[in-house]
Amino acid sequence: MQFKKVKKAQRRAVAIVAGIMCAFAAASPVIAQDTNHPWMNASLSPEQRADLVLQQMTLDEKIVLLHGNGMAHAPQWQMPLTHLSGGGAGYVEGVKRLGIPPIFISDAAYGIRDSGANGKYSTALPSNLAAASSWDPQAACEYGALIGGELRQQGYNMTLGGGVNLTREPRNGRTFEYAGEDPLLTGTIVGNLMKCEQAEHVIGDIKHFAINDQETGRNIVNVIISKRAMQESDLLAFHIGIDIANPGAVMCSYNRINGDYACENSYLLHDVLKKDWGYKGFVISDWGGTHSTEKASAAGLDQEEPMADFYGPSLRQAVDAGKVPMAELDDHARRILYAEFVAGIVDNPIEKGVIDVLGGLETAQRMEERSIVLLKNERSILPLDAAKVHSIAVIGGHADVGMLSGGGSAQVDPPGGNAIAPPGKGATHWQDQIWFPTSPVKALQAKLPNAKIAFNSGEDLTSAAALAKSADVAIVFAYQWEAEGVDLKTLSLPDNQDALIERVAASNPNTVVVLESGTAVTMPWLDKVGGVMEAWYAGSSGHKAVANVLVGKVNPAGKLPMTFPKSDADLPHPVIPALAPEDEGAGSGAVDDRAHVQSKYSVRYDEGLKVGYKWYESEHKVPLFPFGFGLSYTTYAYSNLTVNNSQRSVRFVIKNTGMRSGTEIAQVYATLPEAAGEAFKRLVGWQRVDLAPGESKAITVALDPRVMSVFDEQRDVWSLLPGVYTIAAGSSSSDTPLNATLQIQ
Ligand code: BGC
Repeated sequence: MQFKKVKKAQRRAVAIVAGIMCAFAAASPVIAQDTNHPWMNASLSPEQRADLVLQQMTLDEKIVLLHGNGMAHAPQWQMPLTHLSGGGAGYVEGVKRLGIPPIFISDAAYGIRDSGANGKYSTALPSNLAAASSWDPQAACEYGALIGGELRQQGYNMTLGGGVNLTREPRNGRTFEYAGEDPLLTGTIVGNLMKCEQAEHVIGDIKHFAINDQETGRNIVNVIISKRAMQESDLLAFHIGIDIANPGAVMCSYNRINGDYACENSYLLHDVLKKDWGYKGFVISDWGGTHSTEKASAAGLDQEEPMADFYGPSLRQAVDAGKVPMAELDDHARRILYAEFVAGIVDNPIEKGVIDVLGGLETAQRMEERSIVLLKNERSILPLDAAKVHSIAVIGGHADVGMLSGGGSAQVDPPGGNAIAPPGKGATHWQDQIWFPTSPVKALQAKLPNAKIAFNSGEDLTSAAALAKSADVAIVFAYQWEAEGVDLKTLSLPDNQDALIERVAASNPNTVVVLESGTAVTMPWLDKVGGVMEAWYAGSSGHKAVANVLVGKVNPAGKLPMTFPKSDADLPHPVIPALAPEDEGAGSGAVDDRAHVQSKYSVRYDEGLKVGYKWYESEHKVPLFPFGFGLSYTTYAYSNLTVNNSQRSVRFVIKNTGMRSGTEIAQVYATLPEAAGEAFKRLVGWQRVDLAPGESKAITVALDPRVMSVFDEQRDVWSLLPGVYTIAAGSSSSDTPLNATLQIQ
């Protein structure tokens, strides 16, 4: 782990004072449940219970709740109580005399972080972006429940998962941690994930609020965007997710938005989140993302993490001096107590347990099987026919030993360490490229025991091409690694892999490419290969899922949660604006001294609410693969669209016209009346439909008014414009054979 050193001496001094302040409450971090307190009456609402506790608290006890106590594996973020944190990202001391437990916080995007350093095991699910490719709220729920359960078993009662930032900039190094480019899909998937995670009695979290859509200069960047644009895009995704999950916490991000840092941005925290949306939980700062005491407190930041630079002794002084009103301080503390009651961490003290490793592997495999997106399948090259395919050349991507995972604070450590690490290199750095020991070669061999499967690393193009030529089918495993703190320079595959695929395809037309990526990739070789399958970062059992799809044991159903453009030049920003030399590196760590001075680095999101497919449609750019796209081993036909104006729903028929059972993700889009001034359609609903061969089903999809409304900047209100809406239904954003109109009075 590597963070920039920030005012070390000052921090140490503050840490010592804060430690003394809380030491009286620090005898034991585990607090037994005391059912005698009036707030332990579970028939009261979380709000009532929080109020009852608050009335009993001293000022110092309240302040204890409002800051962290360092971070376990970060040498520069150590405080007197850090050792109590159980190896997690954060630790908030409780109030023992009132039975309020400490909060044990861990990162947990696609699984629990730091298992290696903590000597534990955690399941790695497919990336969050993969989960979004399932378009399946139920699958997202299973995903969250698994993480929540493992967190509890490891002694944590709060997660830092829940990334909901839209893919506005697909080269963002954290794209794999988020759920794509559409507010309805993203909010629905992450909302359901977090709802079920919090149901396991861990305080839920949704992050990074807001418009933290690139890593370049993340600690200093000023994002310039109009209110309407952010309300109808990024903020809408947050709102939908928060409505579904009611997470105990929302994490404010590192960046500035229209001038103010997110963690002291009163428009975002006070006006939108707390006032307009009525959010009752607490705002937690990203790690090192707090920049002030009074300003942040007034804006609505409730808890500083992971230190106590601004919300420890300085907050106490500000309250004593009347600069932070007591009512404001009470509001911060009340929100944290509310989160503890709503998530059930007071009622359900932590009981550590043994992780169900085998159950986790099954869930991870099932999730990946629902997430794989089949992008091309010419001449039905897939599924591989065991009767005809006698030899397979597997090339590249370390497919003999492993599959790739996403890095940074989301990283889950693989059992046995990095599958491609040189001998003796056990420990990992948070920005290392980590491969899970899950071999697609072995999984494929297990499915096709009679086929001759040979592997070539792909480093030498000539030998790779020779092996491909000798086989019935060539499968290239291509990768693109991403991590927090670094953006991709381009969506092109790294390490000469485009040339490798060209050469392999030239020597064997039966070439299939399996992509392990955290975002879109460009494919200059697309016309030359027979098949392409997007496996994302596939998790602890990804190899088995990939093999099952390759041989047809599983019929793929995933659809892209983001557009794949033809080239970087087609993106709203063909290049990410460069940092000034003095700002170089801002963003690669969690906190940065330069964040405390006002850098000039800014990004103008002039594309506004035209994020993803909305951009391509309005700019008349044809993507490589559109949003919502994904093939199956069967085919579907759409017919008979009818619109119910009063119910605001549509009904249509889908038929499985092929020979295999399958699941189709049927999508509904709306183009708003002219007054909206939009040259694009919006996703307004979808449904997953299971169909046997030849079977037809009529489905009804309710049109979500939240994503059909427009935000009026002048009046600060949302409205559903009266007029004619064009409704389109089909299998992707650019294949909508059914069209009709909806009338709104
Ligand atoms: C990341 C957060 C993470 C936190 C704690 C920050 O660098 O932006 O997503 O939860 O660190 O590890």
